[in-house]
Amino acid sequence: MTTIGLIGGMSWESTAVYYRLLNEGVRARLGGLHSADIMLHSLDFGPIAEMQARGDWEAAGDVLADSARRLEQAGAGCIVLCTNTMHKLADRITGATRVPFLHLADVTAKAIKRSPSRRPLLLATRFTMEQDFYRDRLRAFGVDAMVPDVAQRGDVHRIIYEELCRGVIEPASKKRYLDIVAEAVGQGADGVILGCTEITLLVSQTDFAIPVFDTTALHVEAALDALAESASAAA
Ligand code: GLU
Repeated sequence: MTTIGLIGGMSWESTAVYYRLLNEGVRARLGGLHSADIMLHSLDFGPIAEMQARGDWEAAGDVLADSARRLEQAGAGCIVLCTNTMHKLADRITGATRVPFLHLADVTAKAIKRSPSRRPLLLATRFTMEQDFYRDRLRAFGVDAMVPDVAQRGDVHRIIYEELCRGVIEPASKKRYLDIVAEAVGQGADGVILGCTEITLLVSQTDFAIPVFDTTALHVEAALDALAESASAAA
């Protein structure tokens, strides 16, 4: 089985979900005692979050490039970066390694294209909602994502960093997310992108009548599909 190289720790609360879902997925596909062949580099999110906050993306890119290189040298057959936000620096990873990189925005856009949704609401960190790197990547697939208004974006972002990344799940924060989505539906949103890998800890498809695109789960499924493809190509 190909070894999946995970760059995680951003935060580890969502990386733990990746770890569980990858293993559950391999068990569901292969049965018995099969589990995923994973190499995880779990980074210390403290200094990285500081780099994000002060806009030092160059330094953050150095960390990711180094991590990807180490995973490749250690034998990883693909790289999965377990955070939407840090896909801002995807080029630093693809520029540093030769193994396949599974871009989370591409995976998400393809899932949206398979659904009836064409105007989903993007819930994510401020970086992902406000900068171009993610929405432009979705747009390249014909997906025009909406974002919440500025006050709502502030709350979505704060809840990610101050609660979800610290393992805190607050009913009031869930209500805030649900209210934000309800308002967006009134403005034409026809889907919800859980565009931060921790949001799956707070809300899920059962909370909404419109399609939900859970980037953590979609990324895992895409990684499992890529593994299955490389296994059948090798057979
Ligand atoms: N895991 C989050 C994401 O998917 C946020 C933390 C980070 O900035 O990496 O964007």
